[in-house]
Amino acid sequence: MRSVIVVGAGFGGIAAALRARAKGFNVTIVDRCSRLGGRAQVFERGGFKHDAGPTVITAPFLIEELFDLFDKKMCDYLKLVPLDPWYRFVFPDGREFNYGGTVESTLAEIRKFNPDDCDNYLRLVEASRQIFDTGFTELSDQPFHNVTKMFTAIPDLMRLKSYKRAIYLLLSAGSILATSFFYSAASCWRQSF
Ligand SMILES: Cc1cc2nc3c(=O)[nH]c(=O)nc-3n(C[C@H](O)[C@H](O)[C@H](O)COP(=O)(O)OP(=O)(O)OC[C@H]3O[C@@H](n4cnc5c(N)ncnc54)[C@H](O)[C@@H]3O)c2cc1C
Repeated sequence: MRSVIVVGAGFGGIAAALRARAKGFNVTIVDRCSRLGGRAQVFERGGFKHDAGPTVITAPFLIEELFDLFDKKMCDYLKLVPLDPWYRFVFPDGREFNYGGTVESTLAEIRKFNPDDCDNYLRLVEASRQIFDTGFTELSDQPFHNVTKMFTAIPDLMRLKSYKRAIYLLLSAGSILATSFFYSAASCWRQSF
């Protein structure tokens, strides 16, 4: 049997290892850390529990796909529970911004801070949807093994200005809302791109 070694036991490495195993390879997965999961860790410090990475599983179907490869059902092994809210931002003046769930619930939170930002948020959602449709739906399962393949995706992403659709361009400059979305998105995006 042919063998592969996967370096890194985060979500990416585990998924690659499972796919190789499903194709019949003899798989060894190695990691410098003592536990599986990569950034998906929970650790305790100073009496508090911290997520080191993913709190919200944004694409559960990708995990289900891995179970399907082995004719297993994810729900027989783990239970994903809905979070409400996804994130709570607490500001020094005591105000709270609860993010997540639906566009309507987010708009209700925005109104508490700055009603003018509601339209800006809807523009942000629409701009993000277009980038998602291209960058995720169309491209995320495409292998970029060569430069030519990569270049074919660039015109669409340039057209959508995905490289500079900064949250600050779409929300009022310096608003508390922009700060919330900036920190929430930055923590994920710095890992993803
Ligand atoms: C603060 C934060 C919040 C996030 N929130 C979310 C969220 O809510 N939802 C979501 O979907 N995503 C979220 N993400 C993104 C998500 O965590 C990552 O996209 C995902 O965990 C990356 O998985 P990965 O396998 O690519 O990399 P990692 O999880 O980083 O795994 C890489 C592994 O490789 C190992 N490794 C690296 N180099 C070597 C080496 N030379 N030898 C041996 N081992 C090595 C590392 O120890 C690590 O275990 C968040 C990320 C962060 C940082």
